Amino acid sequence: MLLMKKLLKKLLTINKMSNQAKSLYIHIPFCEKICDYCDFTKLQYFRNFAVPYLESLKKELDFYQPHSLSTIYVGGGTPTALELDLFQQLLEIIAPFSTGVIEYTFEANPESLSKEKISLMKQFGVNRVSLGVQTTDDKILAAINRSHRFKDVQTAINNLKKGGIENINVDLILGLPYASKRLLIKDLNRILSLGVKHISCYSLTVHPHTVLYRKGYREIDDDILREYYDIVEEILTKNNYIHYEVSNYCLPSFESKHNLTYWRNEHYYGVGLGTSGYLDNVRYKNTKNLNKYLKGQYLDEEEILNDQDRLFYQIMLNLRTIEGLSLKELKEDFSLDLYQQKKDIIDEFIKQKYLYTEGDYLKPTYQGMMILDAIILKLI
Ligand code: SF4
Repeated sequence: MLLMKKLLKKLLTINKMSNQAKSLYIHIPFCEKICDYCDFTKLQYFRNFAVPYLESLKKELDFYQPHSLSTIYVGGGTPTALELDLFQQLLEIIAPFSTGVIEYTFEANPESLSKEKISLMKQFGVNRVSLGVQTTDDKILAAINRSHRFKDVQTAINNLKKGGIENINVDLILGLPYASKRLLIKDLNRILSLGVKHISCYSLTVHPHTVLYRKGYREIDDDILREYYDIVEEILTKNNYIHYEVSNYCLPSFESKHNLTYWRNEHYYGVGLGTSGYLDNVRYKNTKNLNKYLKGQYLDEEEILNDQDRLFYQIMLNLRTIEGLSLKELKEDFSLDLYQQKKDIIDEFIKQKYLYTEGDYLKPTYQGMMILDAIILKLI
């Protein structure tokens, strides 16, 4: 009871001052099947869990009462794993907060994205869908325990377009078992032929508690990974995609507006099991324990940021995108002249073509994005 009161007090503190947040992330942790590499907060889908989950989610949303939002992103897990009536219920729960939203995204898996779900999404104002594709190779999909096959991806994208949702992202993973340069080129060409607006390419991390790890699979060498990224860069930029963030490419003006919130280090609400949020200089994490979540014990931990922490996040996140880091903003917000303080280091990065300046902004080149961690370490 004492813990409950403490958590509520924290939530009240956050809620009272959270009027600057313009983005909302909602986590739906259920999946029909668990992929061998998965390290996300997820649970096997059971209706008996999903029904009370949605009730608790509604309470959490009602508590925050997010308003005047620009973006909503519903991720998972697999939001489309919900049965049709529960899927509709989820959209109805979110509806009071979606008025005026510019970008409203749902994550989906190709096999569970039915025409009925697409039509419901359209009806409730969803205008962007992010598809978990990972690879187009059916043998690899089977090897990592994914339910879909490439033909499901083709069908899902056709149905989305026919249903009036053209703003589609495809997630790909580099370095899966059996991956090769030849298969990566095939993946990219197949995805390009489907005419999507946005492509995310993440490298595989093999976490110790995953099935893939237990099977003995390990991450590929950095050198090979770099060759994969070079292939992605060459093929996608040749096809007019802009490499606007370390792992993300889009056709002009189709950046993920929601994810830009994170990379701009702006505030956002996060609701749902295991979710993170950032409100009023507090980065918080929700519980990953379903029982606690269902009892309304949402919050697990919080990090109250001091200026030093905020500066760290600002540099680390802003340099991920081609928008870059505003040196002027650092002077105004943190009284820090980064260029003067780190002149030799920054000049060296510029000389080696890892960074460049444009107006007041320090920006990464493609080469710089590939060694971003090293750059950030030197700058902080
Ligand atoms: S669909 Fe996504 S969240 Fe679900 S198990 Fe697979 S990788 Fe994890």
